[in-house]
Amino acid sequence: MSVTGVEVAVMPPQEPLEDMSNLAAALPGGEESAALAREKGWVAPQRYNYDAYNTLDKDEVVNALPWASNSAKYEWKEEYGDIGPPNEELEKMLFQDEYIPRVGKLLENLRQIEVTAETTERPDPIKSFDEAGLHPITLNNIKLCGYVFPTPVQAYCIPAVMTGHDLIAVAQTGSGKTAAFLIPVLSRLMGKAKKLAAPRPDLSNGFNESLDSVRAEPLVLIVVPTRELATQIFDEARRLCYRSMLRPCVIYGGGPTRDQRTELMKGCDILIATPGRLIDFMDRPNILTLCRVRYTIIDEADELLQADWEAEFTKILAGGDVNEDADHRYMMFSATFNRGCRQVARKFLANDYVRIRIGRVGSSHLNVTQQVVWAEDSMKKKCLYDLLMAMPPSRTIVFVNTKPQADLLDDFLFNMGLPSTSIHSDRTQREREDAIRAFKTAKSPILIATAVSARGLDIKNVMHVVNYDLPSISHGGIDEYIHRIGRTARIGNQGLATSFYNERNSDMGPDLVKILMECNQAIPDFLQSEAPPDGVLKFDDDTDDEAGDGDNTGGAGDAWGAAAAPAAAVDFTANAGDNATATDAQGAWPVDANGDW
Ligand code: ADP
Ligand code: MG
Repeated sequence: MSVTGVEVAVMPPQEPLEDMSNLAAALPGGEESAALAREKGWVAPQRYNYDAYNTLDKDEVVNALPWASNSAKYEWKEEYGDIGPPNEELEKMLFQDEYIPRVGKLLENLRQIEVTAETTERPDPIKSFDEAGLHPITLNNIKLCGYVFPTPVQAYCIPAVMTGHDLIAVAQTGSGKTAAFLIPVLSRLMGKAKKLAAPRPDLSNGFNESLDSVRAEPLVLIVVPTRELATQIFDEARRLCYRSMLRPCVIYGGGPTRDQRTELMKGCDILIATPGRLIDFMDRPNILTLCRVRYTIIDEADELLQADWEAEFTKILAGGDVNEDADHRYMMFSATFNRGCRQVARKFLANDYVRIRIGRVGSSHLNVTQQVVWAEDSMKKKCLYDLLMAMPPSRTIVFVNTKPQADLLDDFLFNMGLPSTSIHSDRTQREREDAIRAFKTAKSPILIATAVSARGLDIKNVMHVVNYDLPSISHGGIDEYIHRIGRTARIGNQGLATSFYNERNSDMGPDLVKILMECNQAIPDFLQSEAPPDGVLKFDDDTDDEAGDGDNTGGAGDAWGAAAAPAAAVDFTANAGDNATATDAQGAWPVDANGDW
C-alpha cells in the first residue's frame, strides 16, 4: 500500500535478536542522521505545530480538521420506509480507503483455537452471516464492510445475542470483537427501531437547536475505557447503521462538549461513551437518559472493572436500571479477563449468561512474532534507533511507561530524522486525534505511546510494536503486554513485537516466558532460567473457576432455551477439561478452496 511518501512494507520475518548492546554504535549526529533515515526510506519528520489551532477561529479549525465525534453518519428522514436509500458520497466515506478490510492470510492461526462447550444444548455457531437470521440491512452493511465470513468470536456471539442472552466473551486481540456485538445488537433493533426509538427531529428540514432538540434516549450503550477506542467503535457503528434509522453518537472527554451535546439533541439510538463524559451527561437528564437502554455493552471490560472505575461503573449500570423494561441485556468483551474481574462482572449479569472463550483467556496468537532483547536502560535509546533503522520503514508503535518518557523519546527520534509522533493522556484531545491521524496516514509512521493506547486501537498495517519499557507486574502486567502486542497482527495479518528487557523487568520474566512458550516463540538465553522446570505451562487463570464459585453451579444445559433458565451459565470455554471439542470453531469459520480465508 502506498501512503504519503512511505511504502508500508510487509515486515519480513526477522531473525530473533537477543542482546542489542553491541549493536548500537555511536549515534550519528544532526544532518548525518537525517540523511541516513532518508536513505533507509523513512519519510522526513514534520514538526507538530502546537499553536496552529490558536491562530484559527473555531470554524476554521473545525473545517480544517473535524472532530471525530462530528463525523458524518446516515441521517434518516421521516419519508423513508423501512430502509433508507443509498447515499453514494457517504458510502465512499464509510467503506473506502482506510476502511477497506485487510484480512491477512494467517487467519488460520486464529482459527486453530480451542472452543469447548460444557453444555449439551446450544445453537450451533453460525457458519456464515447469511444463515444468522440478520436484518437485510445489516447483511448488506456487512458486505459493504467486506466481511466475508464471521470470525470465531462472531460465530459464537451472534447466535447468543440473537437468542437474547447476557454475555461475557473473551477472544484474542484483533479477532473482530467489535462487530461480534454490533452486528447482532443492531440487527435485532433494526426492524423495531420505529417502535422503540424516542421521537426525533426530521433532519431533512435542517436542525434548529432551539426548536428541534430532543433528549437523547439511546437503546444501546457502549462503554469503553479510552477516547480513541470510543471514536473507533463509533466508526464501526456508523458503518453498520448505514441506511437504517439507528443513529449512533459518541461522547468522550477532551472533545467539545457543545458539539457532542448538539449531536445528542438530534436524536441518539446507539451511544458510545467513555465513563467520565458519560457521567457528566447523565447528570443532565434533560439531555441524556438511559431509560430506554436495551443493551449495555462494556468493551475492554476487565479494564473498566478495575477498582479505580468502580464508583463510575456502579453509577452507569445503575443508571440503566432506571430502565423499567426488564429486557435489558448486558455484555462484556475483552482479550483478557482475570478471575477477579470475572467475579465482579458476574454481579451484573443475568444468571443464564453465556460465556464464550476463544482460546485461553489472556492468550496471544501465533501471528505476532515476539522477540525479547536484552537492553540496559542506558542503551535503550540507541537500541531503539538501531532497531528502527534495521527495519524496512513500517508503521511502528513504541510503548513507554511514562508521559515524560514519551515526550523525550519523540524528541529524540525527531532529532535523529525519524518521523515520530506521540500520544499520552496529558495531550489535548485535539493533539491526540492529530497524532492518531498522522500515524494512520503514515505522515508520522512511528507512534510513541503510553498505556492509553494499549487497548483496542485497530490501525491497519501496524507492523511492529516495540516495548521500549515493558509493563511491570504492578502496572498492567502480562495482560497489558498482551494488549500492547495485539496492536499488530490483526485479523490474520502478521506482525512483530520487540521488547527491551533488563534486570529491572525480572518481575515479568516468568509470565513473559510462558507467553513465549505458549506461542512457540524463541526464548532468549537470559530468560531460559524462568521457564517452568518440567516444561509444563500452567496459567493462573487456566481453571474454569466459575463453576465452583457458587452462583453458577449445576449442569449448564438448558440456558439456551428461552423458557428454561436454571441458574447456570452456558459455557463455551477452552481448557475446561474437554479438549475433545477443540475443533468446534472450525466449522464455524470456513476457508475457501485455496485455503485462504
Ligand atoms: P478486537 O476488538 O477483537 O481486537 P476489532 O473488532 O477491532 O478486533 O477488529 C479487528 C479488525 O478486523 C477491524 O479492522 C475489523 O474491521 C476487522 N473485522 C472484523 N470482523 C471481520 C470479519 N468478519 N471479516 C473481516 N474483517 C473483520
Ligand atoms: Mg476491541
